[in-house]
Amino acid sequence: MTRRFGADPAPGGLCLVQDLANSAHNRAAGLGDGLADRRAARGWLADALVTWAAQTGQAAPRLTLVEPDLAPLRQFRDRLRAWLGRRTDDFTVPARAVRVALRAGRPTYAPQGDGADGVVALVQAELLLAVHTGKFSRLKTCANADCAAVFYDTSADAGRVWHDDTSCGPQ
Ligand SMILES: [Zn+2]
Repeated sequence: MTRRFGADPAPGGLCLVQDLANSAHNRAAGLGDGLADRRAARGWLADALVTWAAQTGQAAPRLTLVEPDLAPLRQFRDRLRAWLGRRTDDFTVPARAVRVALRAGRPTYAPQGDGADGVVALVQAELLLAVHTGKFSRLKTCANADCAAVFYDTSADAGRVWHDDTSCGPQ
């Protein structure tokens, strides 16, 4: 979903948070809602977890989205997006269980629930990790309001405001 904006995935598991935010409908870019129906949502999740697994070096958790998951997941995504855009109001991620295990000295973590709950659980873990590592502040919303793609700022001074200077910067 992030790649449909021509943006690179955020590092590590933070890509999942970004992918969820970028699944939203975008009229200007002619992009539909990646969670519009069960088929679209399953495609979104499969893609997002492939990237997540590759970037975290962990096996992708087995998560399945069914119809009743879609509305709550879209609602959660929209609140997350709104918060990422402004960063002023309060946004509390609903508490969901994450299982942490130490295997061969290396911690692994996986959501304990399935469906939307499982996705939210993993997002919760990734938010916490990204805040801890300082990466979270580099996850930004493109200042072009028509675009509003969520991108990861890799610049030295962390001063980027557009996801792509050419397509979204001042003309
Ligand atoms: Zn943009």
